[in-house]
Amino acid sequence: MVYLDYSATTPVLPEVLDSYNKVTEEYFGNPNSLHSMGIKSHELLESANKQVAELLNIKESEFVYTSGATQANNMAIIGASLTYCRYGKRIVISKMEHPSIYGIAKYLEKLGFTIDYVNVTSEGVIDFDDLKKKVTKDTILVSVCAVNSETGARQPLKTVRQVIRKNNENCILHSDMTQAIGKVNININDVDLATMSGHKIYGPKGIGLLYKNRNLVLTPLLFGAEEGDLNPGTPPLPLIVAFSKSLRLALKDLNKKEEVVRKYNETIISHLSEYPKIKINSSKYCIPHILNISLMDIKPETFIHALETDEVYVSSNTACSKGKKSESVMNMYNDSKRAETTIRISLSYMTLPSEISDFLSSFDKHYKELSTLK
Ligand code: PMP
Repeated sequence: MVYLDYSATTPVLPEVLDSYNKVTEEYFGNPNSLHSMGIKSHELLESANKQVAELLNIKESEFVYTSGATQANNMAIIGASLTYCRYGKRIVISKMEHPSIYGIAKYLEKLGFTIDYVNVTSEGVIDFDDLKKKVTKDTILVSVCAVNSETGARQPLKTVRQVIRKNNENCILHSDMTQAIGKVNININDVDLATMSGHKIYGPKGIGLLYKNRNLVLTPLLFGAEEGDLNPGTPPLPLIVAFSKSLRLALKDLNKKEEVVRKYNETIISHLSEYPKIKINSSKYCIPHILNISLMDIKPETFIHALETDEVYVSSNTACSKGKKSESVMNMYNDSKRAETTIRISLSYMTLPSEISDFLSSFDKHYKELSTLK
């Protein structure tokens, strides 16, 4: 099997799974219980929280666990919009966001907010002139992902924040960091709100994190025993401990791991350059872990299923918008054919050189077959 869909989800590392199993078996006491079993679980929860805070260089009071990035994005954007709507009802969203952000935007429109979409350049980076125009005195929040899930385009968040602050110093910056964490060095303190997901960093599914700068107040979307608790209920200790471990491992040797991936990316690009019709959509601003191409005259579904006969797994675009055209590629190149025929190859430091050669052989075989059928 050749799995090159790491941006859709990652396998759980064996040592992470071991922690999950151990905590499930040995720490089943509720961390909120007063007896010794509860105290033992509570202590473990506190040490996991401490580790997460240290790894992300934030305070323990500045984050909450969520079920994943989708939930965290909802809590961040809707929560902030409801708190700060008295200062304005405009929200700016980049045209390179994950579908979950657009879903939230549609809901906020129904609540009476105005959403302004900011353009990107043909290299997938925020168009700063457009951003300057769109951030007004009434803009309460801007959402720009750290890395786009379809093309790997990375946004310069520090500059984004400076540009926003010049127009409106109270405007909040939210960044979906799901595709950046564990792949590239990133400073969570460059933004006010950030989100991430365990299953993209070799951790379990069902856990994510919302970072909230200590000065911000989010209106809770869920209610439980404790007032103001953003995600009430019994903490899922096995998931939390497994997440903290996967985060620690994901942030280790980042540069080394990125170099491994960069070599694979370059090998694939140089091989595909033999095919004049294939377009490479990822630009120099894209992280090497995500390589987006357009086949132009073959339907991506047909190609994906053809590769699958050799047990080679890639995506068309983001897993959450399967079957549709790639909005990110459309916004970069304004070319429907290009946006409708995308293939996303997503790589990992765990990928083996032999997997890259097997992928390329399978690619050659099926590409030649399918392009002559036309
Ligand atoms: N944001 C981005 C950028 C993503 O890539 C994904 C996963 N495809 C999500 C959000 C949603 O994450 P989750 O599955 O944890 O809800």
